Amino acid sequence: MSAQVQTHAADRIYYDAPGQLTFTATVTAIREVARVDSRQVWQIALDRTAFYPGSGGQPFDTGMLIATARSGASLEAPVTDVQEDEAGEVWHTTGKPLQEGTEIRGVISGERRQDHMQQHSGQHLLSAVLWRDRQLTTVSFHLGPEVCTIDLEGGALAEEELATVEAAVNAVVAEALPISTRYVSANEAQAMLQDGRLRKLPSRQGLMRLIEMPGIDLNACGGTHVATTAAIGPVLLHGVERVRGAVRLHFQCGNRALREARSDHQALSALALMLSTGTAGLQGSVTRPQAENRTAVKERSVLLQALALAEAATLAATRDIAQPLLLHRLDEQRPGHSVEFAKLLGAALVAAGASRVLLALPQGDTCAVVLASRGESRNCGTELRAALAALGGRGGGSRELAQGSLPAAAVTALAAALQA
Ligand SMILES: [Zn+2]
Repeated sequence: MSAQVQTHAADRIYYDAPGQLTFTATVTAIREVARVDSRQVWQIALDRTAFYPGSGGQPFDTGMLIATARSGASLEAPVTDVQEDEAGEVWHTTGKPLQEGTEIRGVISGERRQDHMQQHSGQHLLSAVLWRDRQLTTVSFHLGPEVCTIDLEGGALAEEELATVEAAVNAVVAEALPISTRYVSANEAQAMLQDGRLRKLPSRQGLMRLIEMPGIDLNACGGTHVATTAAIGPVLLHGVERVRGAVRLHFQCGNRALREARSDHQALSALALMLSTGTAGLQGSVTRPQAENRTAVKERSVLLQALALAEAATLAATRDIAQPLLLHRLDEQRPGHSVEFAKLLGAALVAAGASRVLLALPQGDTCAVVLASRGESRNCGTELRAALAALGGRGGGSRELAQGSLPAAAVTALAAALQA
């Protein structure tokens, strides 16, 4: 937000009374801006406003403009967006037209404003501590609807260092230092920049608005801030990532941080309950089954291979596996009978002397099929693909082994097609 104080447009109540959430004003201009789903959208300018326009990192306020008709009925116009134009006029977006000269009462959504103040003051404090303790410069910040970020330059910040920074920031929160606003001329601000009291200035002329946390931070800023560092509430650092050469630090302050910590705690407690452990034992409860699973996967593949060899031997003893096309149906109910097993069995049968094997594994209305052969004179992949395409299925594979699927009722037709 620009720290330059606009004097030619609406009075900005939020500059000196950020806690004031209701006000009265007069409509000075109205313009139609768009039609959304055939509904008209208007922008309204006022002679004074407590609505903060979205700019420079801090989001806009929402709320209500309330007018009273001659009949005494009140007309409520919800404010969905507030923006400042280049001339410094503040435009309140609403779905209801309020004519020029109308007296209104404005009501700001307090929870949203409070949240923005906590995040913005928290950002000033966090940036100041990162400069004081680590000489990291904040080059930009963003107050998002969920998580806020600052982009830092001047060095690295590792994930393991966040707890230290977080503790230093929360120590200043606990000191309940006053956060004050004052105004200086551009010349004074320039002098403060030169003697190091200010770190940077926006490149504009006019009266500068400064936000001060004594001994911690002095910052040119037009945003809304809480009254003391204590009102920022807890500051929670989430993590860092590299973004275009800068370090991006994710954080949350105040009620938002508390809500996040509460929902994290609830999620962890629910997980711990599912895994019959405490939250401290969660890591072990997850890594142990992962290791066991890796072992089980290896064992299963060894066992499937042995099962395929045994079944191939049984089939070789009971059926003529050397016939031109051996059709064998697997039972989907039997443990281990999967497509993976069908491929192993196909290969085992070919190794046992079968010339060409078609294995069918019913899977509800469809049927998975595997075609295996020595691949000498014929090509399993091309033949199966062509035969399946003609029967409403699809598949393919290599010369020796192919797989696919088709409607269950078409398996006999597939065998006949492959016999040809
Ligand atoms: Zn600021």
